[in-house]
Amino acid sequence: MENEENIKVEYDESKEQIDNLQPTTITLEDGTQLFFNHITTCTMVDGKTINILTNTSSSQVCNVCGITPKDINNLTSSINRPCNTEAYKFGLSVLHSNLRTFQYLLNIAYKLDLKIWRTSPREKRQIEKRKKTNN
Ligand SMILES: [Zn+2]
Repeated sequence: MENEENIKVEYDESKEQIDNLQPTTITLEDGTQLFFNHITTCTMVDGKTINILTNTSSSQVCNVCGITPKDINNLTSSINRPCNTEAYKFGLSVLHSNLRTFQYLLNIAYKLDLKIWRTSPREKRQIEKRKKTNN
């Protein structure tokens, strides 16, 4: 059964297991030893669970800075809000980074080969082709 208390208990147990992970050692044929430390973060946790773990009251409220949809377009208010940096460990919050951020990142990714912002019609066709083929 999934409720707030169970989620917090499960998270604490998982966190404890993560904290106690031992490094992996691999010994190659020539005797060389490779050591791997495991660094794990819980970035694939759903929004409801993150809200519980960050004590955020609503899915309409940013779990990093607490901003609400009413204030999200007020840049002065949103920029100066203190952030709960502990919430960063759950990954990039879409609400916190603003939805358009991902559109900008995608546009930059499509233009990585060109390394210019303004494009000619020929370059635009290249970009459109790239968007359709996803590579
Ligand atoms: Zn925020």
